[in-house]
This record gives sequence, C-alpha cells and structure tokens, in this order.
Amino acid sequence: MCKRAICAGSFDPPTDGHLNIVARGLKVFDKLVVAVAVNTTKKSIFTPEERVEMLKEIFRGRENVEVDSFEGLLVDYARRKGIHTILRGLRTVGDYEYESQMALANKTLDPEIEILYMMTEGKYAHLSSSIIKEIITFGGSGCGMIHPTVEKRLKQKLLKVT
Ligand code: ADP
Repeated sequence: MCKRAICAGSFDPPTDGHLNIVARGLKVFDKLVVAVAVNTTKKSIFTPEERVEMLKEIFRGRENVEVDSFEGLLVDYARRKGIHTILRGLRTVGDYEYESQMALANKTLDPEIEILYMMTEGKYAHLSSSIIKEIITFGGSGCGMIHPTVEKRLKQKLLKVT
C-alpha cells in the first residue's frame, strides 16, 4: 500500500524549514502532497498561485511530491484526496500550543484523520516565513534559509528588484 500524507500550510513563502520536513517526511511516506492553504486568515504577500508556482519549481522532477492548493477545511480536502494523514512541523512551544488546538479541532471534525508532527532540525528552529520576509526586506541574504527561486521572487516582491 502506498503511504501518503498531506503537508499543508500557508507557505508564504516556503522556507528550507518546510522543505526539510518534506524531505524527512519522504523517509516515512511514499508520497507527500504539499498543499497550499488558500483561505487562511493570515495576511499573505504571495498569491496562492504564486506559492504553488514556487513549490512546483522547487519540487520539479520529484515524482513523490505533488503540489496542490485547497480552499476550505483541511479535513474536507484530505477526505477528497482520500488521504487520512497530515504531516506538520514543530519548532517552538508556540507552535505546540497552536498545533495542539488545530489537531484537536481537526480530530473533532474528522475522527479518521491522523496528524503527525516532526520536530524541526536545529538549524531551522528559528526559521519562519515571517522572519525571512524581514531579512530580505532589510537587505539580508536568504542563503541557507530559502531556495534561490524564493529569494528571487521575494526580492522582486519586497524590494521591487527585477
Ligand atoms: P500555517 O499557516 O498552516 O501554520 P506555515 O506555512 O506557517 O503554515 O507552516 C506550515 C507547517 O510547517 C507548520 O506545521 C509549521 O509548524 C511548519 N514549519 C514552518 N516552518 C518550519 C521550520 N522552520 N521547521 C519545521 N517546521 C516548520
């Protein structure tokens, strides 16, 4: 049986912390669906289409990674895909508090769903989409934190660099 899971998130933008969770997730799962949440309450700088485009570019040629997006509840999307496992990353106590609430809410909505958490690797523990936006805004380098295509697009978006 093919073991599949969904890595859902805002990915605004994707960071190497996200990519690390996907790479390590593939040691456990045969296939991962990286799913961009379209209608989160978070204010985003990239459109869902742009986030999907970046992720497709990053995972081009990876047969075991599908990039997709979804609107509405994650549990409904998972049911439509016929996948019952969600894979998420954990960095901090703050993540834990947020994730435990989400996990309980999702489990209440669909008792069949299982949500698994993978602890971040040390070098990504500080890394978030918000921090990387600040670093690029103030002229820092995204090296070791974001894929080159993400850095290029962030600079275009935030610094109007062509
Ligand atoms: P969301 O808005 O759904 O939290 P994010 O894109 O912020 O979406 O995060 C998606 C998932 O990736 C979450 O489980 C988050 O904890 C995880 N994640 C984000 N950054 C990292 C990182 N540096 N290391 C490990 N996991 C991370």
